[in-house]
Amino acid sequence: MTVLRVEPLTTARALRGPFDYRQPAAMAALEVGSVVRVPFGPRKLLGVVVELAETSELAPERLAEPIEALEAGAPAELVRLGLWVAREYCSTPSRGLQLVLPPGTGTGGRTVRSKVELRAAILPAGEQALEGGGRLGAKQRAVLEALRAGEMSSAELATAVGADRQTLRRLEQRGLVATHNSRLRRAPAGSSLAAPANRPDLLREQRDAVDAIVAALDGRWADKSSEARLIGPSAGAAAPRLLLHGVTGSGKTEVYLAAVEAALERGRGAIVLVPEIGLAPQAVARFRARLGDRFAVLHSALSAGERYDEWRRLRSGEASVCVGPRSAVFAPVRDLGLIVVDEEHDPSYKQEGDPCYDARTVARRRAEDCGAVLVAGTATPRPESWLELPRLELPRRVDGLRMPPVKLVDMRDADPRGGPLHADTWAALEGVRLAGAKAIVMINRRGFAPWLTCRSCGHHWDCPNCDVSLIVHRHSGRLVCHHCAHVEPQPRACPDCASTTLSRAGAGTERIEALLKERLDPMPVFRLDSDTAAERGAHARILAGFGEAPSGVLVGTQMVAKGHDFPEVTLAAILDADATLRFPDFRAEERTFAMVAQLAGRSGRGEAGGEVIVQTLAPGAASIAHAARHDAAGFLAGELERRRLLRYPPYSHLVRIGLAAEAEPRLETVAREIAAELRERLPAGSDLLGPAPMFRVRNRHRRRLLIKAAERERTVAAVREVVERRAADRSLREISIGVDVDPQ
Ligand code: ADP
Ligand code: ZN
Ligand code: ZN
Repeated sequence: MTVLRVEPLTTARALRGPFDYRQPAAMAALEVGSVVRVPFGPRKLLGVVVELAETSELAPERLAEPIEALEAGAPAELVRLGLWVAREYCSTPSRGLQLVLPPGTGTGGRTVRSKVELRAAILPAGEQALEGGGRLGAKQRAVLEALRAGEMSSAELATAVGADRQTLRRLEQRGLVATHNSRLRRAPAGSSLAAPANRPDLLREQRDAVDAIVAALDGRWADKSSEARLIGPSAGAAAPRLLLHGVTGSGKTEVYLAAVEAALERGRGAIVLVPEIGLAPQAVARFRARLGDRFAVLHSALSAGERYDEWRRLRSGEASVCVGPRSAVFAPVRDLGLIVVDEEHDPSYKQEGDPCYDARTVARRRAEDCGAVLVAGTATPRPESWLELPRLELPRRVDGLRMPPVKLVDMRDADPRGGPLHADTWAALEGVRLAGAKAIVMINRRGFAPWLTCRSCGHHWDCPNCDVSLIVHRHSGRLVCHHCAHVEPQPRACPDCASTTLSRAGAGTERIEALLKERLDPMPVFRLDSDTAAERGAHARILAGFGEAPSGVLVGTQMVAKGHDFPEVTLAAILDADATLRFPDFRAEERTFAMVAQLAGRSGRGEAGGEVIVQTLAPGAASIAHAARHDAAGFLAGELERRRLLRYPPYSHLVRIGLAAEAEPRLETVAREIAAELRERLPAGSDLLGPAPMFRVRNRHRRRLLIKAAERERTVAAVREVVERRAADRSLREISIGVDVDPQ
């Protein structure tokens, strides 16, 4: 007897398998990763086979059998990975497995399946019937005539000659045609962006980088010859992981493409992770153009059917390269040889909901498990990667252009009545207008103004559900909370004193857009932020508009710094470069450095050269000063030293526990209890900070515990134990508990 160990797919944290079932003879093909519908008490649940066993602790007659097996399941390698994610990020097996199953295998709703069509072909007897004047109805004759030109689907026959299935079936019964079911591919639409499919001759640095990756693919990893090319930490004997450090435009994507092709030549598959697919249309189009049928793409903007079919193509080996955002790290690529993480510094690699996995960490685990090479590439590496990974450098731009000079503008000296743009910034924008060139202006806040106050009595508009200011959105005439869904109409008068002189202080993208339109008229201004890009396709449309305009300004949030390449841009300006520095977060410096450096990389990509202006209240901050000199190495050296002194990652591991509830006293008590319990269990070398109050969101008070740990595994185990016990406690149902391992 074969016993199936099945993990139920359920949202209940307390219901934990695996549970044993008997394998029915009719389902002999079941294996680890198969998805089955099983009886569970009075209910029926979907579950995943996580293990096959010969015996069960239950007597054979007490074991139930699965009711049915679904069409597709996950490979065993991914079942291991999903369960690992569940453990590593304090989640449940069900949530971990959910990540690796065929798209559309849900706990609720309809399961997605392949789409099949009936196809018909004419048989010799059919030809004879046509020629020999066999007895044929008019419809039957029409069908046979049509099929003489070649096989057709029943849908095509219906449109061509108006034949129904009945006619086909009758012809088949008479032995005049043969039919079969054929799987139909729902293929994602390609981007409208044209991408060159030709291979440029690589520069020497690019060639060296590709050679080092290929040496790693071939297991010649620790060879002296390839090690000579590597800078930084020694390659060692561990699984091959590399950092590809190169400024924007240094040809990193070409290196990835060549490495993927080398993997394919060796019969192995590859995964290429990109930050957000909507922001990387140019890169995706290049992969598609170069790889043709071997290419698959997986992301959430595809229809359920498209996603399912792309997944199946990878699972079956029909396609062997998957490009996609963080979830593509779970793509069922066969014989995985290479994982590329493009723009490895990007925060979108961290999932925000449970399980809060980090695709970069999962990629590392999967690469180790599969013996694959991991390549992380960026212009602004994370301190973690700088410390841990041997690296390959692409120090110059392919086009031979120099990085643009960066000018720091100290806003502490600026006249506050002068508005959000400094006189120097206006002068530079004027220059762009006169030259008929293009500029990008970035401000990291959307809306018109972040504060609305009454000039007479000082009344201030806050969100009723969160402890934050409401943001004025002039275009929609509303006040909006950026933390919850709260929206109210923009008031005409103060509710306290009836005064109508209300002050809208500070600036967001809408206000900058208005200012630019007014002063730079008739130069067109394009705004790109999550408000203007909300509609499907709007993001690409705005970028295309800016690209096609002979001259113009693109203004927006961080979105303007990503995934495009416009050679006519001669000025990039960032208005509040230190805004990100004011977040109480140890990654604030790293984020600010990446943001300024990435924006700087957008200017001067053409013959006309370019410049960069950074407006800031903190010109002396290490992140801003180093970004202005395009000096990643200098920044990282200082930042690593700071992290070491403060014992932050990569010199420790962080685990954050967030608690939220409507009733504050109860929340405070429970937070203290959990903190006390944790302090008892955490391994030596761990510090627990908190509970610290966080500002209220969606009417829920919040508390945060932060653990700095030397030992990751034992710390996560202790947290898991404490949190799971609390989660099972029904008296705590009104308190939500979330665990974030390696918070970003
Ligand atoms: P990155 O990914 O580092 O920003 P890309 O790979 O996108 O750089 O290269 C920037 C541009 O230079 C692209 O248009 C690319 O096609 C082109 N390019 C890259 N390598 C070469 C090369 N060796 N010769 C000519 N053009 C190249
Ligand atoms: Zn007032
Ligand atoms: Zn709110």
